[in-house]
Amino acid sequence: MSGVTSAVVVGAGLAGLTAAADLLARGIEVTVLEARERVGGRTHGLEVAPGRWIDAGAAYLGERHTELHALMAELDLKTTPTTMTGASRFALGAEDTTRDGRFPPLNAVALGDMFELLDELTAAVRPEAPWLTPDAERLDTLTAAQWAEQHLAHPDARLFFPLFLGEMMAADPADVSVLHMAFYLRSGGGIRYLNAFEGGAQQDRIAGGAHLACERLAERLGARVRLGEPVTALHQDADGVSVRSALGTHRADVAVLALPPLLADAIEQRPPAPARRASGRTAPGCAVKINLVYPTPGWRDHGLSGWSVNAEGPLLSTVDDSPPEGGVGVLTGFVTGGEAHRFAALDPAAQRAAAVEQAARLFPMLPEPIGYHVTDWVNEQYSKGCYAALFGPGDWLRQGPTLTEPHQRVHWAGTETSTEYFGLMEGAIRSGHRVAAEILARP
Ligand SMILES: Cc1cc2nc3c(=O)[nH]c(=O)nc-3n(C[C@H](O)[C@H](O)[C@H](O)COP(=O)(O)OP(=O)(O)OC[C@H]3O[C@@H](n4cnc5c(N)ncnc54)[C@H](O)[C@@H]3O)c2cc1C
Repeated sequence: MSGVTSAVVVGAGLAGLTAAADLLARGIEVTVLEARERVGGRTHGLEVAPGRWIDAGAAYLGERHTELHALMAELDLKTTPTTMTGASRFALGAEDTTRDGRFPPLNAVALGDMFELLDELTAAVRPEAPWLTPDAERLDTLTAAQWAEQHLAHPDARLFFPLFLGEMMAADPADVSVLHMAFYLRSGGGIRYLNAFEGGAQQDRIAGGAHLACERLAERLGARVRLGEPVTALHQDADGVSVRSALGTHRADVAVLALPPLLADAIEQRPPAPARRASGRTAPGCAVKINLVYPTPGWRDHGLSGWSVNAEGPLLSTVDDSPPEGGVGVLTGFVTGGEAHRFAALDPAAQRAAAVEQAARLFPMLPEPIGYHVTDWVNEQYSKGCYAALFGPGDWLRQGPTLTEPHQRVHWAGTETSTEYFGLMEGAIRSGHRVAAEILARP
């Protein structure tokens, strides 16, 4: 039986809300402090037409995301399949091409060799403790860009590798260590699972939007969730923790910091945490998501899936995210890796012109969009990047062994603390359950 009777949870994303709901269900009084004026964090819904919601943040899930499925069942949420029927568009060379399936029109042997090398790295990693992977020291020193330089000789492999990494983990290869790349791919279920729609990690979306999971969890917690309260400091003593937000100080037995590592480090702690959560090499995941809204998903009438992969930005890939209820067609464009920084530096009119013009080139049958939404996650003050923080050289060896170790009365949650499905909604939920169990097990 835990001696804990109260907890302050910082961050109302999936991790913080899961932890808070678990604790409340076991009789612990919780307060959730959220900096934004909304819950959900990196899940975020946009209403693009009356009653038609799309995801500006996290969207896709697969059957292996068992904790997310369990939560959805509890919250009475349903999935809707990601639409992938039809041919793909590729703009990877001199000429744009259309072909069935998702394999790009590049040298198949070169790409096959590249995926074999990545598979070898991924298979060798120890997902539950990446820092104990054989040869971890070397793998945590090299960046993925350096690895590509050394191992990928064929120009097609060199062209495709950064696009692949951008799509899988919103990373510029120069930002991540080889160890983190291999860990991320393994933690998410392996390259094939992560990359696949049918049968894979992108098979479905949450009907109505992924943000609904957070909104329904928050409804359960009621007034215990306090919006617009960015936390700035956390002081602990022998009897409890005092958590200072912009609106006051909250006292409890324990605290949970359910934040991305770059934001957790911004909170002043007394006594200081023994180790920082991020280093000078930890980078924000680089993704800008663009949702283009059309009167209908017109590409479908032309036998196209809406899926495309492009060597030139801003839209390095596109996917059909149209609401299943119909009414509008939504083409989502992903601007990832280094391209996200270039795009973010443009003024809004230039951004819009570049995105709309590229979509029209890829799908010439499309009329002018009736809606355009851009969400720049790199510059979101309370996310600092997405899909997740990117662990750079040295990060896993330095931070890994104490990733989840409580700092006295302070416990750590967030998708970046989960070695299972790191970076995904599933990882966030698993971290929330873990941290609640840790607190319930305290003397
Ligand atoms: C564009 C995009 C696409 C993605 N695609 C997918 C996908 O398809 N599938 C998938 O599974 N995952 C995807 N993800 C990742 C997924 O969204 C995250 O893994 C997950 O939502 C993280 O949840 P979390 O609770 O760990 O963190 P967050 O959602 O970041 O929650 C942290 C919360 O803390 C708050 N906060 C920050 N600082 C403070 C402070 N000082 N005081 C108080 N509150 C604070 C934030 O506002 C936020 O609400 C995507 C993310 C993005 C942005």
